[in-house]
Amino acid sequence: MTIVIIGAGLAGAKAAETLREEGYTGRVVLIGAEQELPYERPPLSKGYLQGTAELGSVYVHDAAWYEDKGVELRLGVAAAAIDRDAREVVLADGSREPYESLLLATGATPRPLPVPGTDLAGVHYLRTIADSQALRAAFAHGGEVVIAGAGWIGLETAAAARLAGCEVTVVEPDPAPLYRVLGPEVGRVFQALHERHGVRFRFGAAVTGLRGDSTVREAVLSTGDVLRADEVVVGIGVTPNVELARSAGLEVADGVVTDASLRTSDPAIWAAGDLAESFNPLLGRRVRVEHWANALNGGPAAARAMLGREVVYDRVPYFYSDQFELGMEFSGDITGHDEVVYRGSVERLEFIAFWLRGGSVVAGMNVNVWDVVGDVQALIRAGRSVDVKRLSDPEVPLDQV
Ligand code: FAD
Ligand code: NAP
Repeated sequence: MTIVIIGAGLAGAKAAETLREEGYTGRVVLIGAEQELPYERPPLSKGYLQGTAELGSVYVHDAAWYEDKGVELRLGVAAAAIDRDAREVVLADGSREPYESLLLATGATPRPLPVPGTDLAGVHYLRTIADSQALRAAFAHGGEVVIAGAGWIGLETAAAARLAGCEVTVVEPDPAPLYRVLGPEVGRVFQALHERHGVRFRFGAAVTGLRGDSTVREAVLSTGDVLRADEVVVGIGVTPNVELARSAGLEVADGVVTDASLRTSDPAIWAAGDLAESFNPLLGRRVRVEHWANALNGGPAAARAMLGREVVYDRVPYFYSDQFELGMEFSGDITGHDEVVYRGSVERLEFIAFWLRGGSVVAGMNVNVWDVVGDVQALIRAGRSVDVKRLSDPEVPLDQV
């Protein structure tokens, strides 16, 4: 009996770990396109990029762990196709791995900036350890950094670039940072934080071209403005790596479609992490979550389901970020919200923001307030109307709102 996992990232590695923890004694083969052992990406835009975290701290396990657990690593070789009739994975080197059950955990790839000049030296994307190392070396030179996109990559690299002494301009077509995830009002909290630290924003503008000789020198904006750019960082989102699944004829929408047990349209194949678009019974619809906690928990959930355990993956979407002195955790989904309620002090950056829809909490973000995620998620799960006055009163314990 063999379980093959395609994608040696966090979801894939955690799935392999769970298979062994659950007592599975058959073969486990973990196939990864990168040469690296599985690693966690959050430090690549935070501590590791800033030089405060060691490379060793990013790996999920060291090489000895895989050997000890009998997890066969096939690194530096991509899976090229899935032969569903033969139940075999075809690798880029022509070899084949037979499977009884298969997990797809191939993650996502940065969306390319669709403008002329992105092949110039000094234009960076951030997904891998090598990307982070290149960016860290680039920031060490100082100079003008132009960042396309005021999403998570944009803001976290803006903070790292400022801390390294660079001048930073973030260019974003939306009217505020993190506009789609947090809405305009709460996005402004991040704008104010970054502006206090000297980051400049150009909202309502897009980068339409990059110019230079062999190295980038200028970024041209849709407004006609031209910014000096010694380095350019592109953080305009990712696309899930669904090609293998699509060419194998699995159901694919925005991501690889799964049911609540993370099983795809082929009963022998599961999907987890950034690429999975899974039915979440709590939300009553399919969601694709591109965050660390979803890889951390989704990989193990899929592993248990592959072993025939009863699995209902209905977690509240969750993620975290650190930027300058702001540390935050976000739970839920703001879609359709009609009200934002604060508890605590936005000015002192010590608060919880709640997004409400029809009087019920649908999302919450705690900023520099800790150990409240359980209570915030309980409010979201309860799905009942809350008393807004009690919700905003820090004196009322959250579990008594
Ligand atoms: P990935 O981490 O993308 O791993 C998938 C692996 O599969 C990759 O190594 C890829 O090379 C490999 N692969 C792809 N195709 C194939 C193939 N055909 N054959 C073999 N292997 C293949 N989330 C948070 O919640 N908080 C954070 O602070 C945070 N910070 C982040 C910082 C950065 C710089 C980045 C890039 C992401 C961050 N995230 C954060 C998001 C989080 O890292 C991702 O959600 C998580 O990595 C998803 O894990 P995954 O295992 O699904 O995919
Ligand atoms: P992201 O969070 O999706 O943000 C991309 C941003 O770029 C959005 O604001 C988007 O606006 C904007 N944008 C789109 N096209 C643009 C263009 N042509 N020019 C300028 N801006 C443009 O993606 P990301 O920041 O690139 O992050 C990549 C992945 O890593 C995501 O999966 C993210 O979740 C993950 N990540 C997470 C964290 C964290 O959780 N702390 C940290 C780092 C990375 P629209 O929304 O209007 O399209």
